[in-house]
Amino acid sequence: MLPPFENIPFPDSKELPECLGLVFADIPFAPEDRPAPPYCVPFLGGGEDEVRSGVLYGHASEFYLNSYYPVINGEQGDEAETYDPAAPPSDDDCRRRLKEIWGYDDFRGIQLDIIRSILRGNDTLGLMPTGGGKSITFQLPAMMMPGVCLVVTPLISLMVDQVEHLLRRGIRAAAIHSGLSREEILTILENAIFGAYKFLYVSPERLASELFLKKAARIPVSFIAVDEAHCISQWGYDFRPHYLRIAELRKILPCPVLALTATATVEVVDDVMERLAFRSKCVYRMSFARKNLRYVVRRANDKVNELLHILRSVPGSAVVYTRSRKGTRELAAVLNQEGIDAHFYHAGLSPLDKELRQKDWMAGRVRVMVATNAFGMGIDKPDVRLVAHMDLPDSVEAYFQEAGRAGRDGATAYAVLLFNKGDRTKMRRRIPDTFPEKDYVRGVYEKLCCFLQVALGDGRGVTYEFSLSEFCRRFCLFPVPVESALQLLTRAGYINYRDENDETVSRLMFLVTRDALYDLHFLPREEDRALRAVLRLYGGVFAEYVQIEEKRIAMVTGLTGDEVYEALKALTRRRVLHYVPRKRVSRVTFTLRRLEREEISLMPDIYDTRREQYVRRVESILSYAETTGVCRSRLLLDYFSDPSAADCGHCDACVSRRAFDETASAIEPNCSPEALAETYASILADGTPRAVDALPHDGIPSAVHSAAVRLLVADGRATLDPATMTLKGCEA
Ligand SMILES: [Zn+2]
Repeated sequence: MLPPFENIPFPDSKELPECLGLVFADIPFAPEDRPAPPYCVPFLGGGEDEVRSGVLYGHASEFYLNSYYPVINGEQGDEAETYDPAAPPSDDDCRRRLKEIWGYDDFRGIQLDIIRSILRGNDTLGLMPTGGGKSITFQLPAMMMPGVCLVVTPLISLMVDQVEHLLRRGIRAAAIHSGLSREEILTILENAIFGAYKFLYVSPERLASELFLKKAARIPVSFIAVDEAHCISQWGYDFRPHYLRIAELRKILPCPVLALTATATVEVVDDVMERLAFRSKCVYRMSFARKNLRYVVRRANDKVNELLHILRSVPGSAVVYTRSRKGTRELAAVLNQEGIDAHFYHAGLSPLDKELRQKDWMAGRVRVMVATNAFGMGIDKPDVRLVAHMDLPDSVEAYFQEAGRAGRDGATAYAVLLFNKGDRTKMRRRIPDTFPEKDYVRGVYEKLCCFLQVALGDGRGVTYEFSLSEFCRRFCLFPVPVESALQLLTRAGYINYRDENDETVSRLMFLVTRDALYDLHFLPREEDRALRAVLRLYGGVFAEYVQIEEKRIAMVTGLTGDEVYEALKALTRRRVLHYVPRKRVSRVTFTLRRLEREEISLMPDIYDTRREQYVRRVESILSYAETTGVCRSRLLLDYFSDPSAADCGHCDACVSRRAFDETASAIEPNCSPEALAETYASILADGTPRAVDALPHDGIPSAVHSAAVRLLVADGRATLDPATMTLKGCEA
């Protein structure tokens, strides 16, 4: 095991020239290739009895050793770094490390099974519901194996977050994503090759780059962890073509792979293992049953009112999902008006806003988070008592994942889906919105070329900034299908469209040494303040580009965001630092030269098959919402072919069946039509439409049964359509 970073003896200034000599003598650098400051070079040096290697960061007069491997007999210490999967660490070793790093006494669920499997060098797939403690299953074995754990994960924010967490624990980690420049990526990759990190996070689209594949082959990778592994399956609800590149990575990196996902049908599980080229099948599955979670589908015409009612009867922390960004803002305003504390959250907010709102909600300062599906991934709040959906999500998988954020502490919690008859039409409309007609897609391509002034045969490899709203205004198009068309064209390989939410973050690095800062006199007030704030808030700014947030600097300095921006720009002009402000803009890259409209073809695996799957998923979630009389938990678990599927006893279907049975058995055989009508009204009060024949009437004369039904209709309390009864106010 490598000793912690802090224990590395730092070469004092007297040794420096010697160390530098070693650095440049032993590493294949031609003199002219010696890097200009700031240095980030492989390092070989050390004391009398031990030679060490690592990555040396530094400037003309300031160095620090980033991480190192022991070197034996002057050779790169491969011997010290060998790992024998046939003699893996024991379970007790694993527990000890767990306690050391995370402070937990023992593993949960299938964590240890997965860890054992990967320590033995097996390709492994772990199916764990959200909150099952996924990250430990790759972080722990990575800490026990030599080399870098390569983590593929789709969400940049989550990646940045995890890297931050690891760094805070003193574990070296870095992330490569589309927000970084080529130079930054190169630096990170070079560092990884020389063992600077224990974890290297990579977003799937980076895997496709030549640069990455070339460098990756030289990184000492312990194993590849693939998070959200269902994204590799075309059958999955969230297929991401870039994930397919992992297979290529496997060819150049002969190490095991650990695939992790929280939602996958049997079909998807098999597909994931095949696409990741598993040497042999190996799946660990945690039951998806959530005993404390009560699934409810509530039919309601006035969803907002129903939500208020639910929030007033279920105390505690809540998440309310709604589809549109505008919807989150409006609904949060309504809740606040009604005296229920709520924040809204969507992908369009600034990172700082997101963070502040999330913190308020996490700490319980604000009770309800009204959010789009951008909220939730990677957020682990145990005491959420309610997850309500105002709109149907796109699939059962998405619903299961979002609903599963309630009740992680094991106490009773509710997952409520609000539904009415308008939802079916709305869901159906999502199909052409997501898969517009092929000819429409070709039209969008042609208009795009015209909009960006790309001539026939031109454009290959060129990237353009692109404004979706301006494009739609110019051609009088609706943004939703246009965006879908751009995504289809991206999948088909004609262009690469990245929307503004793949935004980059602002970054900066110092160009001068810390000492040189003392020589900076008479900086204007704003610049001086901004500079001090940067030094206080961010570490490592002298060695590499560090992500910063202007709003945060503004907060600690009392400057406005604009003043911070101007100050950092000015410091860049003074060559004190290099500031790269973030850009919030969509981009289109032409992967091929501009083609004729007719040449644009959308193959079945890009369009038809995926459309069919999409339609199937839409039908599945509609069926979940519309099915009555079957336990909700059973419906969900059956969908995932979970063998533990059983009636939960407390979802709306189970409860209403029990109430129904009790009411039915309490009916007097010689009751009056009026009394029977009251009984029927109480049964229908749960909002579920029921066939007239399905209303209990055993042992009741049919004349009394029909009279009771007629009474309800005549009184205007229920509707009959044509043989299905629905209580007034419950029509859905
Ligand atoms: Zn149930």
